[in-house]
Amino acid sequence: KKRVLSMIQPTGMFTLGNYLGALKNFVALQDDYECVYALADLHAITVRQEPAAFRKNTLSAYAMMLALGIDPEKSIFFIQSQVPQHAQLAWVLNCHTQFGELSRMTQFKDKSAKHADNINAGLFTYPCLMAADILLYNADYVPIGADQKQHLELARNVAERFNGLYSPTFVVPEGLIPKTGARIMSLQDPTKKMSKSDENTAGFITMLDTPDQIMKKFKRAVTDSEACVRYAEGKDGINNLMGIYSCITGKSYEEIEKEFEGHGYGDFKTAVGEAVVAELGPIQKRYNELIRDKAYLEKCYSEAAPRAEAIARRTLQKVMKKVGYLPQK
Ligand code: ATP
Ligand code: MG
Repeated sequence: KKRVLSMIQPTGMFTLGNYLGALKNFVALQDDYECVYALADLHAITVRQEPAAFRKNTLSAYAMMLALGIDPEKSIFFIQSQVPQHAQLAWVLNCHTQFGELSRMTQFKDKSAKHADNINAGLFTYPCLMAADILLYNADYVPIGADQKQHLELARNVAERFNGLYSPTFVVPEGLIPKTGARIMSLQDPTKKMSKSDENTAGFITMLDTPDQIMKKFKRAVTDSEACVRYAEGKDGINNLMGIYSCITGKSYEEIEKEFEGHGYGDFKTAVGEAVVAELGPIQKRYNELIRDKAYLEKCYSEAAPRAEAIARRTLQKVMKKVGYLPQK
């Protein structure tokens, strides 16, 4: 079986963007691949976290991943900070990545503009840690949202560079980017991606929003003045709603256009809201059961870390030897 690896930051409750762009795909892949998933809590502190909230968010994120269908028996689902090899390999990769390459990363530019008071070195070298995450596990495929494409490209370049400089060491990974729902946009500014760290909460739907909150946010979603449900350039708001609806119902854009012919945006927004409510309902029910069972969650992540570490340790040892570090006896 080919191996898949992906991670998500526990920086707040997941959004509908995380779910449709990445997490729903993580679940489906478990049938055909050997999957390694993790909560990227090392990445999370590139932005300042309040310790108590951070701890709570990490546990909630873990429970939510199980609730939406990550199977802790079938897949390895661990917490990044509990496997020390990530930080260790990241250092080696930092030293094989150029300042200029990292300077071109659009996420760094966006995030440093947004957090101008905390442009830390970790935020800048984030792609090297992400490369380490992937390369430690010899992943063949990396399912990600479209916003992570540039980072994956960097991981591939670093892997090829290392392999060329020493000898073949890393598997050069391929991305798996879902076609529909690859990029879910903010409901308030459909030219910007939906993000859980957006200060305008009306822009995103979280996995734990109530049906009432969901319906309200869709009703208030920014659209255009044409009043015709069709997928077209310049209709960012409607395109985004059609993407969400298509992703959940499996309907094509033509089918959606037909379904809402002669209807106004109000009807369409209601339908999209209802589809989202129906999709999230059963997930929220399972989440509420899981989050109460702290002992079970702890058992799952505590058992996953050594399984991940067994793989990571082997890769790191190979890397250290190639670089020329003296082996410890
Ligand atoms: P942050 O704003 O803190 O970076 P985020 O919502 O971007 O949070 P990440 O943990 O960076 O979340 O990303 C997790 C996964 O979700 C990645 O695979 C990313 O590509 C995907 N993703 C994030 N936002 C979207 C979106 N709006 N549409 C589709 N996929 C997304
Ligand atoms: Mg992100």
